[in-house]
This record gives sequence, structure tokens and C-alpha cells, in this order.
Amino acid sequence: HSRNNSPMPRHVVLARRPHGMPTTDDFALVESSASSPRDGEFTVHNVYLSVDPYMRGRMREAPGYRAAFELNEPMEGAAVGVVTESRNRRFPVGATVWSMNGWRETFVTDGRGVETVDTSLAPLSAYLGAIGVTGFTAWHGLLGIGQPKEGETLVVSAAAGAVGSVVGQIGKIVGCRVVGIAGSDEKCDYLTDELGFDAAINYKTVGDLQASLRAACPNGIDIYFENVGGKTLEAVLSLINLRARIPICGMISQYNLEHSEPGPSNLTSLIGNRVLMQGYIISDQWEQIGAFRSQMSGWLRDGKVRSRETVVQGIENAPQAFIDMMGGRNIGKMLVQVGDDSAGGI
Ligand code: NDP
Repeated sequence: HSRNNSPMPRHVVLARRPHGMPTTDDFALVESSASSPRDGEFTVHNVYLSVDPYMRGRMREAPGYRAAFELNEPMEGAAVGVVTESRNRRFPVGATVWSMNGWRETFVTDGRGVETVDTSLAPLSAYLGAIGVTGFTAWHGLLGIGQPKEGETLVVSAAAGAVGSVVGQIGKIVGCRVVGIAGSDEKCDYLTDELGFDAAINYKTVGDLQASLRAACPNGIDIYFENVGGKTLEAVLSLINLRARIPICGMISQYNLEHSEPGPSNLTSLIGNRVLMQGYIISDQWEQIGAFRSQMSGWLRDGKVRSRETVVQGIENAPQAFIDMMGGRNIGKMLVQVGDDSAGGI
């Protein structure tokens, strides 16, 4: 199951805490010590590793809502793989599993924090994307907090990314006018031509973001799904409607800053417009994961939600994949493939 020919499996550690945008020198590739499962344990060969924006927060000495990554320890994070050796009846050889055990080619575990995933519902890789935590984040933020109604206008930022692309597609399913904001013309074409967004704006080349948002949202903005913060939030607030909802999912434009920026100058627009702005962390919502999975697997099966991935090969490229995702060089979910996907399902 391992792609490389080196005798020992490998993992990636955080070698030092980055300043600003991380560089590959902030990470190191290390050989893992070989071990076999004891009674009650099993071995997993990972197939895909996830690189996610929240990881940048955990690279800091004083992080936010999750503990800081330990230096020189394997990077924690979501991964999916296959059980290759087992002395645990709940996890037989061939089972496909999800874990938070991170950027490693293989690991031995007693199963704590490991879940089996059903590859008859969606392919293995989708358990890190549309049917995984990123899709769940989109689903809860839009439907639970955004409360969209047919005919309303939904604006989503980082719209061609893992969360944003699912948000916009759910917005279309429930009958909204959907406007995406993304960082390249290729991404904007993908949103309008392949995912059915009503309009897409390239924030890097548009010049006056507020003017083009006004043109794309003739009836104002009822829901803003926030992924980026900064100037984008300010432009949106200038067009916000009465009783609009703003789920605050992320603010990626702030994650690499060494000193925080002053906030938008027009927050007072929230008052007269009675706007609800609510931050959330998806791990608080686990009790809804079953409801999410059954709805999303139907949408994936019917082609109402399409799950795109940008896949980088080899664990040695995980740090660069993370950096590239932070820099916008992904369309859909950014993944690192470290093993054969023959157990991929569907
Ligand atoms: P994406 O797949 O969307 O990748 C990140 C994207 O952010 C890049 O592709 C890039 O696209 C965009 N971006 C990067 N820097 C900037 C910038 N300065 N200004 C505007 N856009 C920028 O990642 P995810 O889908 O995994 O995450 C999207 C958001 O959701 C993040 O903010 C993340 O923190 C948040 N999140 C929150 C969760 C929660 O529980 N609250 C759970 C999971 C994710 P572009 O080319 O468009 O610039």
C-alpha cells in the first residue's frame, strides 16, 4: 500500500513555529519506527492526508481553540486509510478508516479516535472532503446558521475551495441566487460553468470588489458565508440586507498575519439591519453527523453536489501542499495521496 520504495514508513513533523506564510523549512520528514500490532491493536496504511487552514493556528505557540502542535511530533490531522494487519475484531484487515493521526504513511493503534468509513456511500477520498468534516462544515454553517430561503441571495468567499464549493452547491439546491468570490479566473469559470453558481468574482483582479458585488447582487445580500475576513467582509457589509445572516466559518486572510488588522469600518451596518453574525466550530456539532451523511450521500449520488479534489502525491510533499492550499493553488479539497486507492470504493 505504500507508494515509496524506502524500507521504513515516514511521517512529517513541525520542526519550528512559522512566521507569516509557512515554508517547507518549518517541517521535517522523519522515518517512523517500525512496530507490529499487539493484542487489540491494528496497523493502518494511510491513503490520503488532509491539509487544512485551521492547522496554521495550531502551529502557533499560543493557538486558539485547539492545543498547539508539539514540535518534532507527527503532525496531527485528518487522514483516511486501510487496515493492513489486525489483532482487533472491530477493525479487520481491509477496513477503511478515518483518523486524526495525521501526516504519517502508517500507524499502529488500539482504535481510539479511529472510525470506519463506508465506501459504498462515497469514495474514500470524499471522507476528507464533501462527505467529511469540510462538507459537514458547509452543511451546518449554511443550513443551521445561514437559514437560507428560496430566492434569497447567498454570497460565499473562498468559493472554489473545499468548504466554499459545497456551500454554493447547497445554496443552489435550496433555491438561492449564489455568488462566489474566488482568487482566479479558472476558479470563477469552474463555479459558474460546472457548479451552477449564478455569478463569480475574482477578488484579485476585480479592482472595486464592492461595485462588482453590487452588480452581481441586485437585491442585496441575505446570507454571507464567511471564509476569508478582511476587506471582503467590509465589501459585503456595505450591501447587507435587513435580517441577513452571516455564519463565520473562517477568516483565512488573517491566519498568517503576525499582527492582527483593524476590523471592518462598517460594522454599524449590523445594528439597523438586525444582522445575525455567528462564529462556530464544527466539532461542537458531532450529534448531527449522521443526518448530514445521509443527506450528503444522496446529493453526491444524484450529482447535485460534485466533489472536486486537488491531489498532491507523496508524504514528502505534504508541507508544500499545505502551503499551496493556504496560497490558493487548490480547486476543491487539497489532499496528499500516500498510498494506493484500490480500496477507494464506488
Ligand atoms: P480551501 O479549500 O477553501 O482553501 C483555502 C482557500 O482560501 C484557498 O484556496 C484560497 O483561495 C483562499 N485564500 C487564501 N488566502 C486568502 C486571502 N488572503 N483572501 C481570500 N482568500 C484566501 O480551505 P477549506 O475549505 O478547508 O477552508 C475554508 C475556510 O473554512 C477556512 O477559513 C477554514 O479556516 C474554515 N473552516 C472552518 C471550520 C470550522 O469549524 N469553523 C472547519 C473547516 C474549515 P483563493 O484562490 O480564492 O484565494
